[in-house]
Amino acid sequence: MHAVAIRAQGLIKAFGGGAAALAGIDLDVRPGELLALLGPSGSGKTTLLRVVAGLEHANAGRILFDEEDATALPVQARNVGFVFQHYALFRHLNVADNIAYGLRVRPRATRPARAEIRRRVGELLDLVQLSGLEKRFPNQLSGGQRQRVALARALAVDPKVLLLDEPFGALDAQVRRDLRRWLREIHDRTGHTTLFVTHDQDEALELADRVAILNKGKLEQIGTPDEIYDHPATAFVAGFIGEAVRLAVEVRDGAVRIGEVGIISAPIGTPSGPAELFVRPDDLTIAAAGIPAIKARVVGIRRSGPARRVDIHLAEGQPPVEIEVGTETRVEKGEWISVTLKTVRLFPVASV
Ligand code: ATP
Repeated sequence: MHAVAIRAQGLIKAFGGGAAALAGIDLDVRPGELLALLGPSGSGKTTLLRVVAGLEHANAGRILFDEEDATALPVQARNVGFVFQHYALFRHLNVADNIAYGLRVRPRATRPARAEIRRRVGELLDLVQLSGLEKRFPNQLSGGQRQRVALARALAVDPKVLLLDEPFGALDAQVRRDLRRWLREIHDRTGHTTLFVTHDQDEALELADRVAILNKGKLEQIGTPDEIYDHPATAFVAGFIGEAVRLAVEVRDGAVRIGEVGIISAPIGTPSGPAELFVRPDDLTIAAAGIPAIKARVVGIRRSGPARRVDIHLAEGQPPVEIEVGTETRVEKGEWISVTLKTVRLFPVASV
């Protein structure tokens, strides 16, 4: 199969009223890539997907499939496969007929022969692991099974690209996790260029080759899950991904300070002035003796799975930050401990 690159250039979409849903998006999706669009509610994920599909037209900008300009093409001419969160299957059609639908409604010239359609449906049932259920009707299936039928139906017409909008959004956590793994396997076998909308960061980080983070209609960062998690490019991404506590700090004389207390040296090149420091539980460790360390006061202790989470205060008047320690580590509430910050995620506060 030939996988297609999707290129969005300078997309702007305003619905009238508030801020633009897409405020100038440039995005390159590589051939065969599974790219997650991740962002808070209202950040423009669905709008971007609908513009790529041709269900919505942008006010400005272009959509290219490989070198072909698809901007003016209607949805039928784009040959995209969709799965939505509540993609109603045809209730009066059984599973096999739902999957075959897109092939059967083709004009005679491009419609495959009946036997060929049957063969293709059998192949897809196999792929989505629903063989044996072809005669069932949608209301005789679980939510997860229905979404698998929806994916088989989307794949039946051999789409150029696959667009998935929160396909597992309505399912419970365990089913979601299973389907995630399953979708990744299907993707690896079929190789369609796939755009996957989600607001669930675990889903995006676990499933995707790369993740694009949207905020208020703009692309904040695009990168592999490792790049996004370990090297957030903006304060928004640092706050949005993982569990981070945001501390208001000041960079002065080469040090990051909370109030008057210098806690770490500032990375080279950091401008002086107010900044935000994002701290995750795994960024902090208890310091070995003799190492320059930050003094912190323990304000809470909790068991968290295999480890213990300790809330500490780096400075009065700031929110507590968490540190993860082994269960063998003995600390007491009220005690002062020494910690080191392994990773410094520091963003200057833009001066107005
Ligand atoms: P969610 O995760 O809640 O689905 P999203 O990131 O997919 O959010 P969009 O659905 O793309 O966000 O919406 C982006 C912005 O555009 C929102 O402010 C929304 O209210 C607005 N919007 C989307 N569709 C329409 C429409 N048909 N008419 C008017 N405004 C719209």
